[in-house]
Formats: sequence, C-alpha cells, structure tokens
Amino acid sequence: MKRPVKIAGVIGWPIAHSLSPAIHRIWMERDGIEGVYLPIAVEAGRTALAAGLGALRSAGFSGLNVTLPHKEDALALSARASDVARRVGAANMLTFCDGGIYGDNSDAEGFATAVEPHLAEDFAALVLGAGGAARAIVCALLDLAAAKRPRIAVANRTRARADALGAAFGIEVLPWERRSDALAAFDLLVNATSLGRTGSAALDIDLRGLPSGAIVADIVYAPLETPLLEAARARGLKTVDGLEMLMRQAARGYETWFGSAAQVDADLRARIEAEIARRTP
Ligand code: NAP
Repeated sequence: MKRPVKIAGVIGWPIAHSLSPAIHRIWMERDGIEGVYLPIAVEAGRTALAAGLGALRSAGFSGLNVTLPHKEDALALSARASDVARRVGAANMLTFCDGGIYGDNSDAEGFATAVEPHLAEDFAALVLGAGGAARAIVCALLDLAAAKRPRIAVANRTRARADALGAAFGIEVLPWERRSDALAAFDLLVNATSLGRTGSAALDIDLRGLPSGAIVADIVYAPLETPLLEAARARGLKTVDGLEMLMRQAARGYETWFGSAAQVDADLRARIEAEIARRTP
C-alpha cells in the first residue's frame, strides 16, 4: 500500500513572497520524498488563524511554519509550547499532535547557527529592532552564553518596545538616535528591523565607528545584499545575510514533518539565491 503523502506549509498574510516552499521543495527533491509544502494565505487575527489551523489539520497537514502577522497568535493557540517559543513570545513552527498544537520557535536557532561560527568568545552585540524577530535574536544570543560571554544591547525606533524587550530579557537599551555613535563598543551589529527590505527605506546608520573585526548581520533577505551589508562590505567587515538565517530556521520543520535530515549547504544557497534573483524585478 502506498504511504500517504506528507503535507506541510507556511501560513501568513501576505504569503506569495515566501521562500519556504522553494527551500522545502529542494530538500524533498534531494531526499526523494513525495510531499507537499504549500503557501497558505490567512488574514490577520486570532479567529481567522484558529479557523485556518482547524481546516488544515482536518485536511491532513502535519505542521506549519508561521510568518507575519500570526506568530504571537500561533503561540496563543498552541496547547503546548517549547521553552524558546514561550521566551520569545511567538511561534514560527506549529506541529499538529494528538493533544493539540505544539508551538515552537526555530528563528532563534536559525540565527544562532548562522552567526555562532563567526563570534569571538566574549562578544558585544547591538540588536536593532524590537519586533518578533529581534526577540528571537536576543534569545538566541543569550542562549549562546553557555559557550560565550555576551554583552547584548537593543535599540528601536519606538522606545517603549525596546524597553519592554530590555526588561523581558534583562538587557541594556540604547536610544535609537545613538545607533551610530555607540558602535565602537560592539563587535556584532544585527539589523532585525524591516528597514532595507525591498519597498522599505534603507537603515540609516554610519558604520565608521565599528571595530575592524566586527560582524554585521542583516536578517532582511530581499534583497540579499541590503544597503547595510553593502556598506559593511565596503568597510571590509564580515557580513552574514538574512538567507543564512532563513535556510537554518526552516531545517527543523522539514525534519519534524518530513522525517529526513535537512542539509543547509552551498547548493541550497545557490538555488535559493537564483530564486530570489528570478523574483527581483
Ligand atoms: P515586526 O515585528 O513587524 O518588527 C518590525 C521592526 O522594524 C520593529 O522593530 C520596527 O520598529 C522596525 N521598523 C519598521 N519600520 C521602521 C522604520 N521606518 N524606522 C525604524 N524602524 C522601523 O517584524 P519582524 O517579524 O520582527 O521582522 C523584521 C524583519 O525581519 C522583516 O523584514 C522580516 O522579513 C525579517 N525576518 C527574517 C527572518 C529570516 O529568517 N531571515 C526571520 C524573521 C524575520 P518600531 O517598533 O518602531 O515599529
């Protein structure tokens, strides 16, 4: 008897831009897995999300990645959640289990594994932004504390959101206006805002103060080479782009729902880069 085809997907609004289906298609093709991974558009709001999740569960989905604007509601609708999802306050991965939905967050792990090889033993990081992605990144950097000794600070345009993040994780908050002149004290700068994304303004920052061995990470992945990364490269700094995090955060979902190890390698990166180029006007 033929085994049932495994089904998973990514849920968000809008969703057509998502690269997750392309990433999963490549892994399934490599592993010879007959599976389906679909982009699913569900409007903002917990009621709409709950209805969508109920329908997808009945349709036989094993699980879902979750993107904007649903990550916080996804956690609230989870019967159980991982420690990291609870600390971040958001779930980007939902698995349908017998006892209900299990919420998890792989954004933190995706970021940590992308930057960890480049970080010194005791690093100082400035995270720009205070949205869901910034929370996952702060959580990831704090979790590296077992192996490293980090100093972490955050700055955000809306000060109240930075203060809330600072208080939740016990980290320093810098005024948004100081993002350029505070850089000498940091060897990792992370853009976790949506600035630099196609259609958004560029992040306005002067990188001259960063030490010469510093790393600049941008989690925006469309375009891949954001104005921030371009400026960092022009200064000869090491850079980590948003695709590195994106590929790595996708791995755990694939392994959970399709039951096969996900390889994040140069071939995957080249194929997703080509997909981004194909979609860029
Ligand atoms: P979010 O919760 O909506 O947060 C957006 C952040 O950007 C907030 O800190 C916001 O500041 C800031 N921002 C927006 N417009 C700004 C402006 N004009 N000036 C200054 N700050 C501005 O979004 P998110 O989920 O954290 O995602 C942020 C970005 O990360 C998105 O581009 C998303 O696509 C990307 N992302 C990438 C990955 C990956 O795997 N590479 C994973 C997750 C997210 P305020 O608080 O002041 O509004």
